[in-house]
Amino acid sequence: MINVTKAFFPPIEEYQLQLQRIWNNQWITNRGELVRELETNLKEYLQVSHILCTNNGTIPLQIALKLLGNNGEIITTPFSYVASTSTIVWEHCTPVFVDIHPTYLTIDETKIEAAITPKTTAILATHVFGNPCNVEVIEAIAKKHQLKVIYDAAHSFGVSYKGNSLFNFGDISTCSFHATKIFHTGEGGALFCNNKDYQLQSFYSHNFGHKSATEFYGMGINGKLSELQAAMGLAVLPYMPTILEGRKKVVDYYNTHLDFSKVTTLKIREHTNWNYSYYPVIFKDEKTLLKVQKALNEIQIFPRRYFYPSLNTLKYVDSKKMPVSERIAERILCLPSYYDLSESELKMICDLI
Ligand SMILES: *Cc1c(COP(=O)(O)O)cnc(C)c1O
Repeated sequence: MINVTKAFFPPIEEYQLQLQRIWNNQWITNRGELVRELETNLKEYLQVSHILCTNNGTIPLQIALKLLGNNGEIITTPFSYVASTSTIVWEHCTPVFVDIHPTYLTIDETKIEAAITPKTTAILATHVFGNPCNVEVIEAIAKKHQLKVIYDAAHSFGVSYKGNSLFNFGDISTCSFHATKIFHTGEGGALFCNNKDYQLQSFYSHNFGHKSATEFYGMGINGKLSELQAAMGLAVLPYMPTILEGRKKVVDYYNTHLDFSKVTTLKIREHTNWNYSYYPVIFKDEKTLLKVQKALNEIQIFPRRYFYPSLNTLKYVDSKKMPVSERIAERILCLPSYYDLSESELKMICDLI
């Protein structure tokens, strides 16, 4: 069976060495030695000024919206994983969708200003498939209208834009370390920000608001990564070059063997050092997509419809039509992509398509 992705499993002896440290310390959560070491190592690997590890990739979005959303209207993309939208509603803010760019698939920055109202407090955009949004234009719009910028950078581990980690952009940026993501801790995630106030506020927010055992800065939630999760992260991180190299081979294979008179793929923004995290193909219509998906399923190959449906069509949101996103969402399929997908498997997939 070939799935859209496969979690990376480090050698079990290396994972056990990390677990042994937890047993030695007799300390299993609440920012133990392994979580702190993982943060230090990630900070160095990613070249970011600040990182806070969390127990998944949704909690940092919730924290960001709690701190910056102010129950207002949040300008957002309809083409992302459902968490980008559900979190906005969950945090008592209102999603206001802006359609996407047809080739980059990120929010169409030229349509953002028309969606701003006196109630708008922030922009929450996704670097979908690790492809950067137009961060410069978004920053300029946010500055002009005094809005906050939150990036759902769940797919962007290791991506840099103009030589700078993509996590360094926006007021707050978030990542997911879920098992299906390119770097993982089983479940996990992180929050990135450069502003000292946001660093303090997000830190206490992820630990119930604690200032000390008996004092509180404010309200918070439990967003802590455990030592067990950090152990996985510490065992996986040294393999990032292997993972990236393997995934690049997969992307190169698809790029040279797919018939681009029949399908298209996304365009990566200029000046981006990408992480090869997904391989979406766009068919001419939904009927063709369903036919290909069915044929692949019959030989035990399971691509996924990332991302369908377009999020503006969710029952719990109120939105105008988003023609570009809706047309892309019904025709896009992510092909299997992981570091050790073999050439014979890739050939089978390409031939069938
Ligand atoms: C995976 C993902 C999330 C959620 O991350 P979890 O770690 O599963 O909570 C949020 N946004 C996007 C775009 C994602 O792909």
